[in-house]
Amino acid sequence: MEPNTFEVHDPEALAQARAILNASESPADWAKAVVEAVRRNEEWRGKRCINLLAPEAPTSPTVRALLSSEIGTRAAEGHIGRLNRWFAGTKYIDEVEALCVELLKLAFRCRYADHRLMGSMLGNMAVYHALTQPGDVIMSAAQPFGGHSSNRVDGPAGMRGLKIVDVPFDPVELDVDLEAFARVARQVKPRLVVMGMSMTLFPLPVRQMSEILAEWGGKFIFDGAHQAGLIAGGQFQDPLNEGAAVLTGSAGKTFSGPQSGMIMWNDPALTRPIADTIFPVLAATHQVNRVAALAVSAAEMIEFGKVYMAQIVKNAQALAKALDERGIPVLGAKRGYTRTHQVVADVRQFGGGLEVAHRLADANLITNKNLIPSDEPKDWDRPGGLRMGTIEVTRLGMRETDMETIAGFIARVLVENEAPAAVARDVEDFRLPYQTLYYNFDHGLPPWMQ
Ligand SMILES: *Cc1c(COP(=O)(O)O)cnc(C)c1O
Repeated sequence: MEPNTFEVHDPEALAQARAILNASESPADWAKAVVEAVRRNEEWRGKRCINLLAPEAPTSPTVRALLSSEIGTRAAEGHIGRLNRWFAGTKYIDEVEALCVELLKLAFRCRYADHRLMGSMLGNMAVYHALTQPGDVIMSAAQPFGGHSSNRVDGPAGMRGLKIVDVPFDPVELDVDLEAFARVARQVKPRLVVMGMSMTLFPLPVRQMSEILAEWGGKFIFDGAHQAGLIAGGQFQDPLNEGAAVLTGSAGKTFSGPQSGMIMWNDPALTRPIADTIFPVLAATHQVNRVAALAVSAAEMIEFGKVYMAQIVKNAQALAKALDERGIPVLGAKRGYTRTHQVVADVRQFGGGLEVAHRLADANLITNKNLIPSDEPKDWDRPGGLRMGTIEVTRLGMRETDMETIAGFIARVLVENEAPAAVARDVEDFRLPYQTLYYNFDHGLPPWMQ
């Protein structure tokens, strides 16, 4: 068969897949090719790489096991309880789901929580559907300042037909320009202001912004996809306590659970609109295996979140400082680099984010290109920044001195221009002894903490 004339995916990757399929007539071999690629990823990313992707977290052995449990083959939809469900036979599923909801409320110290959506993209969509009408004005941050497509015109907010006005940002302080915000907001009177961001280094002025919005009944939504674990662990600002009406979060980022969307709120008046959007608009059956895994990761966060998240932030600060000392400029130096799991470097002098991220990946150092305030949104493919996060290295039991070692590896590739393959060997030697995941009920705290 002739290949299609247009694919959004890399045509070479698809051609390679077709070559694998063409090499055998046997569907069993095709299945084996899939399993083999998964195994290679586990061997490389799972054991030999230093994974510094900010939106990634390794789940505990129990959480990972639950993801392949029998309960994940069962169908359950709707709200919890005998009368609410369409399907019978859900008594244990109801138990698991109810535990998940109550554990999320405890973890986030809130009155209502939802566990059913597969990601924060959908969580944000639920909030937009529940709390806005097409044509409404909202305000959110542009991508070079850390804004995320889910709150912009190219994501769910745009799909809801919302008009989006930028939250003014100070590119030097990396903070909201509150004066400009007050002026613009009073003029356009947004129904929602949605902040949180995927490049997130410092707390945001949630209280001040919420107070301004209250003048016309606007609501603040904190998109805490990245910070959910930090918030649960009490190591970041607590948006619901500072005036935010809704907190959304991804469970697979700092929260260190299975990839999921979580929605938390306190006002009972929001319960109906949010719940009616989750079901039956965005979810029917909702992966009860993932819900069980989410429930256990919430319990882990309640038990270990405080020390785990504090160490994540300490490691991020140590990594940022060590990079800066080795000649790699890091954003936010004036404010102590970071108060989250993230470190953002300005790598324009080393060839830009795309080039640098791939060079580092050849050295088994996994990061991502990122827009920074000096970029335009159109620089999307070739931005000037590099984003790193310390979730996984922390869960593997590493501490501040290990961050200096990692910064040394990164500097060898970027500053000293060493061949990535040579650095990769040293990265592997360093990483191979770290194979146990801590801050969970399987393995407790790292040995040096006990
Ligand atoms: C990652 C992210 C999302 C999307 O989360 P998923 O769980 O991947 O769907 C939404 N908002 C922000 C700010 C993010 O960083």
